[in-house]
Amino acid sequence: MKIWRPFTQMATAQLPIRVSKARGPHLITDSGQKIIDGISSWWVINHGHCEPEIMKAIEDTSKKLDQIQFANFTHENAEALMESLADLTQNQFGYCFFSDNGSTSIEVALKMILQKSTKDKPLFVALENSYHGDTVGAMSLGSRGGFTKSFEKVLFDVHHLPEPKCFETWLKQSQVFLKKNQKKISGLIIEPLIQGAGGMNIWPVEQINKLCLFARQLKIPIIFDEVMTGFGRTSKLFAYEYFDFIPDYLCLSKGLTGGALPMALTLTQKETYEHFLSESKSKMFFHGHSFTGNPLSTAAALASCQLFHSRKSQYQTYWKDIELEHRKFVSKIISSPLVKNPRAFGTVLAFELESKDEGYMSQISEKIMSYFLKKAIYLRPLGNTIYLMAPFSLNKDQLSYVYEQILKGLECEFKS
Ligand SMILES: *Cc1c(COP(=O)(O)O)cnc(C)c1O
Repeated sequence: MKIWRPFTQMATAQLPIRVSKARGPHLITDSGQKIIDGISSWWVINHGHCEPEIMKAIEDTSKKLDQIQFANFTHENAEALMESLADLTQNQFGYCFFSDNGSTSIEVALKMILQKSTKDKPLFVALENSYHGDTVGAMSLGSRGGFTKSFEKVLFDVHHLPEPKCFETWLKQSQVFLKKNQKKISGLIIEPLIQGAGGMNIWPVEQINKLCLFARQLKIPIIFDEVMTGFGRTSKLFAYEYFDFIPDYLCLSKGLTGGALPMALTLTQKETYEHFLSESKSKMFFHGHSFTGNPLSTAAALASCQLFHSRKSQYQTYWKDIELEHRKFVSKIISSPLVKNPRAFGTVLAFELESKDEGYMSQISEKIMSYFLKKAIYLRPLGNTIYLMAPFSLNKDQLSYVYEQILKGLECEFKS
């Protein structure tokens, strides 16, 4: 049997590189080449690969426990994880529902809202260029384009607030829309501050804050999809910390386990939870996955949360330094004729490469990726958007090396 790879045109794709080891910011191939993991293996590895404390936690649990059924049983790791997370989120969320990946954490929030709702036809509001996952509900919430075209027939209608040209006008128009459709709207979903798959778009705190506060006044539930931004990517542990309100639903996955094992959580408030309480079973929340609360995944998540706790000041300094370095680099490349809209927020650096065909399907992405691989750096661009989102174990020298190779690329290789 052959392997069919994700988001890959198998007819033209290069053979995958065989990796036998991973350590810190590096992937180490079968042939011994050390590659810098510039995109944290699809944004999941935050501390670093094979973080010893996480691997040890998995190992320790694996000697005692594999899987249990979470409807009738619980275990130490899950309980300790709740305590650790409550601490990291300053007790701002009362309840937590487990699932397996980013998409399912979104489906859970969506289904909680839908099951609660008495509306005939629910209407969700999202942002243009948003991405919330690949399952059908999560896909519906996300922006429409090449990735969703074939599934359009089964996706439910979602209103996507258009891409802003001027944020002031955008905010006013969005508020008018929310107000006008207040009765119909079931929820507002946002990737706070950085839209990931949609092209690493950075949003101003102020406008999102105002939009959400307005939605809050209208009693529209707010879902924050922090599957990517969560656990340090925006220089704070969670992006919601930048705002003057707490979202009704917080979706976490990717970096939750330090990237070591799959798991996701949907955090919510007491009001949501209590809505499902009743003498009748017909009112319970109708959702669950076979691997809910897997002991090994929770061991990894717990260890990772503990690291965020113990390395709090160390990481705060690191994130500030990285952001500063990224900003300095932005001012360095801003004058390059090949660079469009260079930007940095938190630990993320991004810019578009001037190219004849733009967007995700742009052929230039293969060329860029091969260039960086030759320099022992893994950067998989989103179309012509080159971005860097490395694990926090990437040191200054390694970062400088990555910058240097980007500059070299801009000087010669990327000129088409
Ligand atoms: C990756 C991602 C998802 C989907 O997560 P999966 O684990 O790939 O299902 C959802 N939302 C955002 C913001 C993401 O970056």
